[in-house]
Amino acid sequence: MFAPLYLSNTCKTTCTYCGFAYKNDIKRKTLTLDEAVAEGRILHQRGFRRLLLLTGEDYVATPIAYLADACRALAGMFPSLKLEVYPLGESDYEGLRDAGATGIVCYQETYDRRRYREVHLRGMKRKYDYRLDSLDRAARAGILELSTGALLGLSNPRTDTFFAGMHAHSLPQTHPRARLSISLPRLRPAAGFEDVPLLPDPVYVQMFLATRLFLPRAGLILSTREPHAMRMHLASLCITTMSAGVSVAPGGYSGADTTEQFSLGDHSTTAEVAESLSAHGLHASF
Ligand code: SF4
Repeated sequence: MFAPLYLSNTCKTTCTYCGFAYKNDIKRKTLTLDEAVAEGRILHQRGFRRLLLLTGEDYVATPIAYLADACRALAGMFPSLKLEVYPLGESDYEGLRDAGATGIVCYQETYDRRRYREVHLRGMKRKYDYRLDSLDRAARAGILELSTGALLGLSNPRTDTFFAGMHAHSLPQTHPRARLSISLPRLRPAAGFEDVPLLPDPVYVQMFLATRLFLPRAGLILSTREPHAMRMHLASLCITTMSAGVSVAPGGYSGADTTEQFSLGDHSTTAEVAESLSAHGLHASF
């Protein structure tokens, strides 16, 4: 079990499917370090020891020095400390590694280059190849917990699942000590993006099972985008890592009134999720 901690929802990029997109008129907030630590303490008190720090793509509001400071401030509480931020250069990843980061999450969203350009309208995220190579740069910098994935619904889900699997399969060829995880979130409604074509449940489950068969040892991550029943169903089949009782807005654990990145599918508390896992014969480890 892990918890996401949103450091900021400011973003200079416009992805058509995301509530934090630059074009959206939403309540923006970037946590101070003290606020980030306060959020971390709440999660630590709930038992979490695996944390995922997230930002949008804003090199001014959340520069690399800020990310490193946040890692240093939180690493003592969270032995597993991953970042899902904008793609960085190898030396910047080295700096984050030295500050306590243990993992990098960078989803390609879609491996369909034409569709990629259609849904990423402005900002650094338009650079498909720079994003694609980010996990390789992180591994060269010595960060070896790597997560990739595709946002299913943007393009052909089977093609995107195939290439996400190949992406995860390829990295240990050059970085044998790398530990790979894959996430296959489905598109969810978000601010300015209400009409979501939902991938049918049987196809969604099939994509996870195909990935599990192809990569028996990879971590499979499932977020709170999915409803509780689907999460428990997939947990009993193949999922290894999931979040629970989360906020997807900066300051959300402390009650700040800011905009979420997407609407949650599972509003269960951490204890309720752990209890449901137990009912499925699974042990929730924090
Ligand atoms: S997905 Fe990331 S880069 Fe794109 S708009 Fe949202 S926060 Fe910004």
